[in-house]
Amino acid sequence: MADDAIDRGRRGFLRGRPASGPAPIHPPWSRPDYFTSLCTRCGACADACPEAILRPGDGGYPEVDFTRGECSFCGACADACAAPIFDRTAIPWALRATVTDDCLSVRRVVCRSCQDACPEGAIRFQPAPGGAAHARIDEFACTGCGACVAACPAGAVTLDHQTGSPAHAVR
Ligand code: SF4
Ligand code: SF4
Repeated sequence: MADDAIDRGRRGFLRGRPASGPAPIHPPWSRPDYFTSLCTRCGACADACPEAILRPGDGGYPEVDFTRGECSFCGACADACAAPIFDRTAIPWALRATVTDDCLSVRRVVCRSCQDACPEGAIRFQPAPGGAAHARIDEFACTGCGACVAACPAGAVTLDHQTGSPAHAVR
């Protein structure tokens, strides 16, 4: 088991809550397997982020908060970090957007806010019976930037870690 999973499990046990649940989203290019072992919680990455989307999360480790904005993949967080946490030769992360049934379009309210916000054109709406519409994510186009999260007035968009997801290039 990876160190990060062990640490989350231990903290969850000590706080009387299960270790399961969505894994935290750490900065792009950071190594998830050893993140909590190597991160000193100095906050340099958060201070360097021009989008101000990094904040202290569980245990004080930096996490991405997409309700604040999107990742521009500028790499400033990686450049600011003194620990051997970031691997800029790898893909930044394996995050993909998901639109839940809280989407207004499911309830026949016309809204295309996430589609309009997506810089990759990764969101398309398909008509559904009864005048509703369902958002579809192009997993090959989605970079996991998170621009669609804050744009959604219903809080219906989440970013989730994917396994076996297609590699994508971030410029
Ligand atoms: S790559 Fe840039 S925008 Fe994205 S989290 Fe790091 S500093 Fe912030
Ligand atoms: S995470 Fe970024 S690329 Fe993916 S659907 Fe949302 S806005 Fe588009």
